[in-house]
Amino acid sequence: ADVDVDLKSLVRTIPDYPKPGIMFRDITTLIGDASGLRSAVERLVEPYRDSNIQAVAGIEARGFILGGAVAEKLNCGFIPIRKKGKLPYTAIGQDYELEYGIDVIEIHEDALAAGERVLLIDDLIATGGTAEAAAKLLRKLDANLVGAAFVIDLPDLGGCARLASLGVKCHTLIAFE
Ligand code: 5GP
Repeated sequence: ADVDVDLKSLVRTIPDYPKPGIMFRDITTLIGDASGLRSAVERLVEPYRDSNIQAVAGIEARGFILGGAVAEKLNCGFIPIRKKGKLPYTAIGQDYELEYGIDVIEIHEDALAAGERVLLIDDLIATGGTAEAAAKLLRKLDANLVGAAFVIDLPDLGGCARLASLGVKCHTLIAFE
């Protein structure tokens, strides 16, 4: 029954956040709803139940909430990918372009063993720049990136096509134009 929850209706849209012209898709309303959270996690996990996933990597910060739940369901550990300077142990970084300037995300250098089968999780894919940087980090550790899953896709921005061109398969639950 939970898989029938209308996830799209649980996402709140905030016009002009964080700046004019942006329609921000706010998932706090979705994850704050018991059926919404459970359904989203179930549906993220579903394609990967028999994929022998050995670790889930989540992108700060909303990817931590969903990724932690997904990791627990898949009976594997959770690996945080964080903004620069937040991880306590030795980390490796990957920069990526923002609309104005560059940003860096990091992962602990010993977070994954070579060949480990990893699922990448975030709340939303837009241009795919963040997920691409995360995929590059995972590959620097020689991990095996099995797939990337997101609650929300903004297909007009081309993120999943960008991941596909890197050989990363995308799974998304709902889309906004
Ligand atoms: P991208 O790198 O694909 O352009 O942007 C995706 C990243 O920015 C994700 O980490 C996502 O959490 C965040 N993001 C961008 N736009 C939105 C939005 O409208 N709603 C939410 N919840 N996150 C967004």
